[in-house]
Amino acid sequence: MAAAPPSTVHWIVRMNHRNRTVCFALLFAALGAHLLERPLGAPAWAALVLQFLIGPQLQYLWARRSARPVQAEFINMLIDSVGFGVWTAVLGFPLAVTLILPIGASFNLTAFRGLRGLGEAVVATGAGGLLGVVLQDLVWLPQAGVVATGLAVLVLHVFVALVALSAHDRSVRLHVARQQLRASEQALQQQLEQNQRLHAQLEDQAHRDPLTGLFNRRYLVETMERALAQSVQQRQALSLLLLDLDHFKQVNDTWGHQIGDEVLRAVAARLAAHVRAGDTVCRYGGEEFLVLLPGMLHAQAEERARHCCAELAQQPIQVGDLRLAMTWSIGVASHPLHGGSAQALIAAADRALYQAKHQGRNRVAMMPAHA
Ligand code: GH3
Ligand code: MG
Ligand code: MG
Repeated sequence: MAAAPPSTVHWIVRMNHRNRTVCFALLFAALGAHLLERPLGAPAWAALVLQFLIGPQLQYLWARRSARPVQAEFINMLIDSVGFGVWTAVLGFPLAVTLILPIGASFNLTAFRGLRGLGEAVVATGAGGLLGVVLQDLVWLPQAGVVATGLAVLVLHVFVALVALSAHDRSVRLHVARQQLRASEQALQQQLEQNQRLHAQLEDQAHRDPLTGLFNRRYLVETMERALAQSVQQRQALSLLLLDLDHFKQVNDTWGHQIGDEVLRAVAARLAAHVRAGDTVCRYGGEEFLVLLPGMLHAQAEERARHCCAELAQQPIQVGDLRLAMTWSIGVASHPLHGGSAQALIAAADRALYQAKHQGRNRVAMMPAHA
């Protein structure tokens, strides 16, 4: 397997490599000083060099190449612990070494694996100690020289400082990661809100007629079904007005399509200005409009239609300098008088509108009940 680039090496592997390289070099010096006091020959020196100078690099290379670097580091720590036990026993349990090596082993494994790690460290160090006794017989030399002891204590200091440094690094990185997470959460939230706004806008646009800004026919169909169901449930009337501009084609023919558009906008604004809060005004077709009046009885709707007719007839539409006299023909239909479905009601209003046109325009008409 190819080695991972240093930046992608697991942080535990990187941290242990740094700590091991520094601490083990000092341990080499400390244990070397003990060895000078208690010469054990070339094999002991070879073992010292192997574990404390070459070992950290081999352990790093192995963990770095491993498919399971965390597991590899755990094994590395067990190897360290066994080695510590061996050295403690082989050197005759010098006080400082007996203190710091097991502490180091326990600290590392406990930080790594909790209580289980502590148990593993005790077992591994103990096994190493037994191995040392087997290799060297049980010797008891707790005293060591000042230099050897001082170096051993120095290792403990450096080890603790390195561990604290790693903890600090981790907490700084954690803090930065939390801030980044919070920032991306906020960005996501903003994006979500923007999407919701856009969605609402699009939905509104899909329901609007672009020329007049009134609701379109699609919206009316949906709304009318709902309003009818509500009227049935609450046993209330519902009326609708179907309004058609009289001779509108002449406006286009005489003044042009653009003026025609302005007229349509102006009559739409007038209609919208004269409805109650719950009413729905929509552009039903070219110059046809529909006003839905929930809860309104037929007689009131008729009255309202007459008012619309009179209002438009009396107040011409102003487009720039032009004053255009316009009139409505209006068909009125009501639920339950003319039917119970949207289709039946619109058909009744349409027939009434046809009648209004037929009778001479600028007027309101309605069909007899269930005609
Ligand atoms: P009537 O009194 O019988 O209703 O006559 P009318 O001229 O109003 O009716 P007709 O159906 O003959 O003509 C409707 C005209 O409305 C034809 C069409 O060009 C025009 N129209 C439809 N939509 C628009 C639009 O968006 N803008 C403009 N400027 N004209 C439109
Ligand atoms: Mg028409
Ligand atoms: Mg018309």
